[in-house]
Amino acid sequence: MHQLTLAEIARGLADKKFSSEELTRTLLARINQLDPQLNSFISVTEELAISQARAADARRAAGENGPLLGAPIAHKDLFCTHGIRTSCGSKMLDNFKAPYDATVVSKLAEAGTVTLGKTNMDEFAMGSANESSHYGPVKNPWNLEYVPGGSSGGSAAAVAARLLPAATATDTGGSIRQPAALTSLTGLKPTYGRVSRWGMIAYASSLDQGGPLARTAEDCALLLQGMAGFDAKDSTCIDEPVPDYSASLNNSLQGLRIGLPKEYFGAGLDPRIADLVQASVKELEKLGAVVKEISLPNMQHAIPAYYVIAPAEASSNLSRFDGVRFGYRCENPVDLTDLYKRSRGEGFGSEVQRRIMVGAYALSAGYYDAYYLQAQKIRRLIKNDFMAAFNEVDVILGPTTPNLAWKIGAKNNDPVAEYLEDVYTITANLAGLPGLSMPAGFVEGLPVGVQLLAPYFQEGRLLNVAHRYQQVTDWHTRAPNGF
Ligand code: GLN
Repeated sequence: MHQLTLAEIARGLADKKFSSEELTRTLLARINQLDPQLNSFISVTEELAISQARAADARRAAGENGPLLGAPIAHKDLFCTHGIRTSCGSKMLDNFKAPYDATVVSKLAEAGTVTLGKTNMDEFAMGSANESSHYGPVKNPWNLEYVPGGSSGGSAAAVAARLLPAATATDTGGSIRQPAALTSLTGLKPTYGRVSRWGMIAYASSLDQGGPLARTAEDCALLLQGMAGFDAKDSTCIDEPVPDYSASLNNSLQGLRIGLPKEYFGAGLDPRIADLVQASVKELEKLGAVVKEISLPNMQHAIPAYYVIAPAEASSNLSRFDGVRFGYRCENPVDLTDLYKRSRGEGFGSEVQRRIMVGAYALSAGYYDAYYLQAQKIRRLIKNDFMAAFNEVDVILGPTTPNLAWKIGAKNNDPVAEYLEDVYTITANLAGLPGLSMPAGFVEGLPVGVQLLAPYFQEGRLLNVAHRYQQVTDWHTRAPNGF
């Protein structure tokens, strides 16, 4: 039963082959048995899951039949969940039980999903390896000595290991697509403003976006359908009708114009990944797509711009964690300054502290113009590059990551080496565009992902291309040994 996709679960539940409670109990047992190897969950919400599963079975018995009704999922541990610990992977919020549900959580609960738990993540979503979590690193089910990617590494490892069919995640600079690539999943970062950020603990508010992680594009369509839509509680959420993502999955790719940015295939890309990306292009050509080389000339500035803007916003967002209102408070402070200093010094891990310092520096008087303002200008140039490219092509295709997953600990002493792993993903966040990563093969037993980018609100096009690709390839159906 644990091999079923969301779409298969929906059919099985509709045909009364099994109940949501049965499925939920099977997956909870699997999590108990296998997750100690992976560390993909921070909290398992067994009681909540059983009660939600029973409620979903009752709704079905009463004649309801939604595609997510009774479907087991998990939430990245930065989506607020009422009465349940929402830690953000940090000691700072280890004791924080959210007083309300994030919009994504309540929308999915209304659609009938069953929450199995909260997944592990890099602290405050800062990282590309899921090693900065207060709860310890997450292991990649394809090889337990390797990182699963980050920051949504817990969601990715859990879905890849078939502990559950799908999970929510967030992407500020690649945190849905990069772990999807490193664990052989399909992950979609929607257009900025497509999914409400209300109740999603902020890292860098102008970049953060929630989205689905699943094994197939078909399942991402189902989960995104449940997450997307206008929310008056998030002032950056856009009031655009949500299309039926499942309805366009099978559209023909005849004449689809695919752009290959020459900057994505230059130095720094593992040639074995480049070969698999080219092989995926061949498959899409067989389906009728036409390929064209394009250029994104400002891409080389993306990492420096992102690593100014994201820490700047983080330094502001994280100022609310001061030991006073919620979260960790140090023991026996001697005065208010001591309370602030020690609560933050003891509550935040080293990567979070590094980002706060970088961000506060970049925003400080005298440096603001030199760093923050320059980075914002680069951001606009990057967006303009994409706008020009999308005049010529329908989707942009390239590798999701320059390298394979690396050994846990291998980049611990070199934060910049880890930042460089985001080179292909962060431009979509800077521009606010939707992006998807899909499985495209393996090198030395480690998964490789291909990234697709599309114009604003063209999530349906990304899912369509990935779905058609998944009809003629089987990378997404392979399971890691032992899972
Ligand atoms: N690796 C990037 C960072 O550390 C992106 C993380 C994310 O998307 N949340 O900022």
